[in-house]
Formats: sequence, C-alpha cells, structure tokens
Amino acid sequence: MSCSLEYLIEDDFFKSIKEEVICTICLDIKIEPIMCTKCQNSYCSKCIKNWEKKSSECPFKCPSPSYITARVVKNLICKLNFRCKNGCDEIIPFEKLQAHNEFECKKLNYKDKYENLLQKYNILLEEKKKLQENFDFLFKFNIDSMILENSNEIFFIHKILSNNYKPGFRLQLLYRATRDGDTGPNFHQCVDNKQGGILVIIQTDKNIKFGGFSDAVWISYVNPEKKTIGKNFCGNIDFLFQINSQKTFALKNYMKKLTSIFCRSDVGPCFGELGEDIWIRSGNFLQKGGMLHKDKEKGRICSFDTKDYELNNGEPNFNIKELEAFWLQY
Ligand SMILES: [Zn+2]
Ligand SMILES: [Zn+2]
Ligand SMILES: [Zn+2]
Repeated sequence: MSCSLEYLIEDDFFKSIKEEVICTICLDIKIEPIMCTKCQNSYCSKCIKNWEKKSSECPFKCPSPSYITARVVKNLICKLNFRCKNGCDEIIPFEKLQAHNEFECKKLNYKDKYENLLQKYNILLEEKKKLQENFDFLFKFNIDSMILENSNEIFFIHKILSNNYKPGFRLQLLYRATRDGDTGPNFHQCVDNKQGGILVIIQTDKNIKFGGFSDAVWISYVNPEKKTIGKNFCGNIDFLFQINSQKTFALKNYMKKLTSIFCRSDVGPCFGELGEDIWIRSGNFLQKGGMLHKDKEKGRICSFDTKDYELNNGEPNFNIKELEAFWLQY
C-alpha cells in the first residue's frame, strides 16, 4: 500500500491528528476506517475483519459491537500529505496519491503508465464479471422481500440455506405482517401445514434483522384438555440467525430434547422451548412487539446457541417493523 507511514510526511497537521489516524491494531495509517458504534474507536476495516475472527467484543471490549464507516477519520486521512513513491519531489495529499503514483507523476514513462492502466482495466473487468454474476444470481433467486434491502443480505440468506440444501431452491413469500395482518391467527393461516421448511425474518424498528429457519411444519396447536395451547416441534434442519452480524445459531439440547419452533394459535412465529428464544406477543404484534429470553428469571435457558440477547444486539425487547415468512421450495 502506498498509503502507509513509510511515505507519510510527518508535518504539524499529521502530528495534531496522529491519534485519530493511526490504527492501534496494525500501527499504520487506517485503511478504509470503520468505527465501533458503541465506543466510537476506529480501525482499518481489514484489521477489524481479522479481529472479529478471534473476539466477539470490539478491541475496546464493547460487547456485540457493530461497525460503521468512520467518516470524520476518513476525511482527515484524505488531507494527510505524502511523498511520491516513484521519487519525484512533489508533496501529494492522500486523496490524489493513487492517481499521482500511477499516472500523473513526471517520473513515470509511457510504458509504466500503460502497464498501470492495463492493471486497472483488468481489475475493472474482474469487477464487472462479479457484478454480472451477482445480477444473474439475484435475478434468478428473485426473493420477494420488503426486509432484505441489498444483495449482501440476500446472499447471506441464500448462503445459510445452501449449507443445508442443494442448489436450485427458491423462497416463496407466504406471509408479510403489513400485508396479511399482524396477529397469530393471520400468521398461522398463511404458513400452517406447509412441508419443506419455513424461513421467518423479523425486522425491528431499529433495523436489526433476525429470525429462524426450521423444516418442521407449523400448526395452530390447541390442546382441548389443558389450558396451555402451545406445542414445540423440531425439524431436521433448525437454526436462528442475525442478518446484521451474519451469524447463525445452532440448536442445542434443552433438557435432553430438541425444541425448535413453538406453535401456539394466538401468537406469531416463536422459537425455542415455549418461545424462550424468540417470543412474539399475542394480539397485534406490529404494536406489541416481542422479546428474547422471556422466562430467564424462571431459570429457563435458550434452545439455540445464542448468547444473551445477541439476536437483538443486547436488548431483550424489540418492536417489530415487519415480519415475513418464506417457504423453501424447488
Ligand atoms: Zn489497522
Ligand atoms: Zn467499542
Ligand atoms: Zn511523483
């Protein structure tokens, strides 16, 4: 990288902002800086990618962190001054550095410029190919969702299902809360008795997106003899996921039995033993919302391998903006 301390001019401007622009992980200038939304410390995006493989906290120990572009730091870095790596005597601000090093420097001859151009062309060609592939995939997969907003989110959903299903599956929208009504009976009417696997995605008012998948069949269970009107079922493929962090959470043994979906006619799609992992309140859930870890005080533990409230970035309660259910089919 030409944007490194090696070519940096350590002028007064740099000295006044040094703490902001040096990454404490790699000790070099922050490349594509992103920051933890909780403590606002920023790092190279690459450094954080590596960091996340080893730790679920941010480098400053914030639990379940999320990261956004560190715009202010990025702007500061654009104004840092560099020496030319080809050895001319110009002083170049970072924002013009790449163009200078590859095309504008007076030390470059035509052959150098041509080779740099060719390299750039090949990179663009590669990018074009990838874009075309992405487009072809999205066009073919054609998921009808108001929650999934970009190709990254759609790719994630496709990936977690591809781990269990052979290629060629589609997801057919069966239920959308804002379209079909936001009560348990509305949900069950659309989704019950479908064989093959149901994917549920919840979008909160804070734009956190999580949900669950099971190939168990949803039913409107009513037990006439007792007052309890809910029942747990388990499929062969069951997991929860969060789209924002791109994580999945496997089913584990709860009291030596596996419990995945919780079917109760008057509530929406709940997961875990008696709805412990994801609970959707009865009545109109777009107003009432839901919660994670409903009976934690009673000592009940989650059926899936989630850490406390990790699905909802540390908060037990959530308001629901949208909820969709899809049917996996070939
Ligand atoms: Zn770094
Ligand atoms: Zn942090
Ligand atoms: Zn130069």
